[in-house]
Amino acid sequence: MRDEVRWERMFPDELEAAFARRPVVWLPQGLCEPHGPQNTVGLDALKAWGVCLAAAKKHGGIVCPPDFWHVHETGAYATWASDNIGEARPWMTALPVWMHFKMVAYQIRAFDALGFEAVIIVTGHYGPNWVDLRALVGLLQPHFAMRIHSLPDFKACPKGFDGEGKHVADHAGVVETSLLWALRPECVDMSRLPKEGEPGKHFAMSTSARMADRRVGERMVADEVAYLGERVEELLAEYAKNKPAERRAISFVELERIWKEVVVPALPKMNCMKNVEAEKMPGEDSRWRLNCWMPEGIEKS
Ligand SMILES: [Zn+2]
Repeated sequence: MRDEVRWERMFPDELEAAFARRPVVWLPQGLCEPHGPQNTVGLDALKAWGVCLAAAKKHGGIVCPPDFWHVHETGAYATWASDNIGEARPWMTALPVWMHFKMVAYQIRAFDALGFEAVIIVTGHYGPNWVDLRALVGLLQPHFAMRIHSLPDFKACPKGFDGEGKHVADHAGVVETSLLWALRPECVDMSRLPKEGEPGKHFAMSTSARMADRRVGERMVADEVAYLGERVEELLAEYAKNKPAERRAISFVELERIWKEVVVPALPKMNCMKNVEAEKMPGEDSRWRLNCWMPEGIEKS
């Protein structure tokens, strides 16, 4: 039997069999953004996708096509990019906050309409977006029978790189480089690291990347897979406990109403929507000034 868990590569009978075994769907998300010269730019989504694939192989479920478009360029992300990337061409696949989260709402709707009992959304993109994602899930959950759980992948590996919780999350440093190296070795090339002490921003690389270790990355992936297995059990148990007498799919029109009534009023409070203070704005001629500040009410349009 084929050991395939990627939705887009499965035949209908394989999808039905996987669904019957475990009605769980995994949604990996991230984006293309600078991750040092040693990592390919899709690190965040590749990492989340790799972790979801390993978790689905171990604990069951179907991994939906990864979403490589994610939040960036606004608010604190713009300041971060200005400081850590500078004016290099960033090869970024960014969306505004409200568009990304609306996409997530529609993805959740699609999973629920198919009859899944649980979805686990794994964001490989760090920064404040995962806190907002958790808030979004909290707002949407009451409208769906399916149990919804979201987390950044680093939450699934609290011991971190060193095993003592000191290196848990970074950007293109020892954590992310080791994870990608373990999951997609062809996407990490340590020979591309800049020479030690060489000045420059180095495409947002963290200097800790020099300590990256593929085998430690493998242990971290195993930690994440074990953690996610526990979440699957919890979510399915929660679903069984609250199982509705009958399932009813939410229509596009209904989702638009939920979006407008429930999510839009909460959007301005989200971390990713916060504009930077004037003194922290990227400089006049910086490419990161373009979207760093959002006019009030933009998310309603
Ligand atoms: Zn990253």
